[in-house]
Amino acid sequence: MNIIPENDQERIEVLKRYKILNTPPEHTFDNVAKLATQIFQVPIALVSLVNADEVFFKANIGMGKIRSTDRGKSLCSLAILHPEVTVFEDATKEACLLANPLVAGEFGLKFYAGAPLITHDGFMIGTVCIVDKKTRLFTAQDSAILKGLSTIVMDEIEMRLSAINEVEKQQTINKLEIKAREQIEAGRHRMENMVDATSLGMTVMRGRELIVEIANRAMLAIWNRTSEQVIGKRILDIFPELANQPFPQMLADIFDTGKTVAISEIEVDISTPQGNKHTYVNFKYAPIFDREGNVESIVASVIDINEIVLTRQLLEASEEEQQSLNEELNSTVEELAASNEELGAANEELMATNDELADIHQSLHHKITELAESENRFRDMIERSPVAMLVLRGQDLLFEIVNPRMQKLLSKGPDLIGKTLIEGLPELSNQPIIDIIYQVYSTGEPYYGFERPVSLIRNGIEATGYFDFAYTPLVENGKITGILQVVTEITEQIAIRKELQKAEEMLRFSIEAANVGTWYFDIASETFKPSSSMKKLFGYLLDEEMNYQDILQQISEEYRTKVIAAASGTLYKGASFSVEFPATGYHDQKVRWLRAIGKLDHDATGKLSHFSGVVIEITEQKQDEIRKNDFIAMVSHELKTPLTSLKGYMQLLTSKAKKSGDNFTINALQRGNTQITKMTSMINGFLNVSRLESGKIYLEKKPFALDLLLLEIIEEITVTTQSHEIFLLPGDAVTVNADADKIGQVVNNFLSNAVKYSPVGSKIEVAIQAVKDRVRISVKDEGMGINPVDLDKIFDRFYRVENQHAQNISGFGIGLYLCAEIVYRHDGRIWVESKIGKGSTFYFTIPTI
Ligand code: ADP
Repeated sequence: MNIIPENDQERIEVLKRYKILNTPPEHTFDNVAKLATQIFQVPIALVSLVNADEVFFKANIGMGKIRSTDRGKSLCSLAILHPEVTVFEDATKEACLLANPLVAGEFGLKFYAGAPLITHDGFMIGTVCIVDKKTRLFTAQDSAILKGLSTIVMDEIEMRLSAINEVEKQQTINKLEIKAREQIEAGRHRMENMVDATSLGMTVMRGRELIVEIANRAMLAIWNRTSEQVIGKRILDIFPELANQPFPQMLADIFDTGKTVAISEIEVDISTPQGNKHTYVNFKYAPIFDREGNVESIVASVIDINEIVLTRQLLEASEEEQQSLNEELNSTVEELAASNEELGAANEELMATNDELADIHQSLHHKITELAESENRFRDMIERSPVAMLVLRGQDLLFEIVNPRMQKLLSKGPDLIGKTLIEGLPELSNQPIIDIIYQVYSTGEPYYGFERPVSLIRNGIEATGYFDFAYTPLVENGKITGILQVVTEITEQIAIRKELQKAEEMLRFSIEAANVGTWYFDIASETFKPSSSMKKLFGYLLDEEMNYQDILQQISEEYRTKVIAAASGTLYKGASFSVEFPATGYHDQKVRWLRAIGKLDHDATGKLSHFSGVVIEITEQKQDEIRKNDFIAMVSHELKTPLTSLKGYMQLLTSKAKKSGDNFTINALQRGNTQITKMTSMINGFLNVSRLESGKIYLEKKPFALDLLLLEIIEEITVTTQSHEIFLLPGDAVTVNADADKIGQVVNNFLSNAVKYSPVGSKIEVAIQAVKDRVRISVKDEGMGINPVDLDKIFDRFYRVENQHAQNISGFGIGLYLCAEIVYRHDGRIWVESKIGKGSTFYFTIPTI
């Protein structure tokens, strides 16, 4: 008998629809089967589902652990052939069942009743059936009850399916949602990478509190801070010094007006842990709005253009270029702000996902469009970026985008696009840069290079250029799909720097070769940096520390105060620094004479920045000088003794001649005496010089009336000098605390020079005048005057003006030198005013009491 219905194929498809085949037992179905055994008082009840080859028991009471049976053997195969209940009250009497193994075999089935499970669209997919090993009577009412049970089971199956569908639907929704979120994440990630890779400093500050939410690498570099030091902090807590600058008010205004603010080339001072940083920046503050249209955060973007400004100042580059750079920069910033804002909004929308599937689909569609837009924006932004950028796509690194800046940098056209990296730039193939690019692609780690040399063929010429660059992997759905490269060429800056370095090196070489020590004292940090030659001069080992205090201790005591005074004179009054002193070597204990010459320098802002200079050894010259001084001292001393006795003899002869009235002899002796006086004063001069230079001149200071001293000197000199008229002008009575002998020597010297260098019969005026806490003495003559070129030098040792007049006048050029030294030692000043042919006035001042 044929047990396969005509529509079996279709029927089996319907059965599969219910997703119930081969599933584990469930209570509802077990309970119906149990209920059937109790209602009909039979040992066996089943809920069966008739599949293509076998019958699966969803519920099985009384048939042991069997889960399925052959379709050919099962009586349920017959029960699904028509919608009525199939009943065999005594199976052994049914002709069609005589061959059935259940009936004929060991099992000994006698009774079977099965009601088909009929789907809402009329397919019979299984049964609820009862079985017994005894024959039974089965009434029409029994059939109705069994049919009722099968309806309950079918309802249950339908319900179960809709529950399953519901769950699956939910799962699909969840998956779609996750996918959408991933795509948006990837978009945002790319966006962030780009923000981070750009050399534009960017930060997002939330709320009027201005809490830093995002700060990209370039921003952190400008700030000189790590992200831990800034993220989540108020901007005014990070930079308290901004409080007194216009920025906080500008930011507060943006919250009120919602207007973007852009300022170019402004100077800012930023405090960094390494000290204050002064730099030029272009910056822009753009508002980010929330859904109600209120300003929620501010995107600040800053580009450090210090180098640009400095380079421009250096190279006097055209201002127009800067202008267009600014405009481009502003538009890039606007785009960045806009896409950031939109991404933020898109994200919020997703958060408020609707339960309705339809809605989700719609918003998904929306977001995918947005992503496509953001992709376009990404491309557009790169194309218009003022910085050279390119995108390489895929494992073969195909040029996908090469923006105009980059084309210019590579000196290539747009035909690069679509070529592989190596096809486009074959010269890269054996350079380290290529490994770096592959590494970024394979590891997904971004790479930042600074001052890297790369050889490029540009306009047919291969040359090495220097570049700063950032390689950022582009990641989509967790997979690396490309690399974004941002490149700045710095070849020119490097060339300038190299040239500077070369010049500096040359200078250093020559300084070292000349055995000249150099030092550098940084005023702000008070650090003292001596060169190795300087260490050598002070007897230190080259790798040893040598500081300013140690050096002072090595300088001989009598010179120490002079050096300290000179240094502080330079530091506080800007005086020139030039000192000579002996110093004892730290290790070798050798005494070296050193000369130090230094200078105070200002930085670009005009602030004092450092005090630096050179030190050379002058031991040999000094020793020569000392030997010379010793010799002069000895000779002068030896000459003095015979001169003294000569003078004695002359006096003796004079008194004798006076007695005998020999006028000729008296006259001759007088002239001889004058010459002896001249000679004595010359010898005294030499002695004084040598004493002075060996530091043996001492002042015996006592208070005395200077006006009286002047009177005395003039009286004395008028007695011996008839050739000139010498006047003392009426002046002030002044008391000074000074060495009267030495001051007298200065006045005498002025007067004897006035006599020497002015014509016979001319006038000489001496004046004394108190000015504030000083007194000024002047000696005025009507003599030959002094050439302006000689004015500064006549106070130098052994300096004499060379002209025909002076040649006939005796002298060694030490008188004024001694005067100057004496005046200096009294904390005074000495100078001369003179007109050639008209006369000179010599002045000196010293403090009064
Ligand atoms: P000297 O022994 O040569 O006079 P000084 O040191 O006293 O040495 O003077 C230095 C030089 O200054 C002189 O050689 C002279 O040329 C110039 N000089 C000094 N006083 C006068 C003066 N009153 N008028 C013109 N020249 C003078």
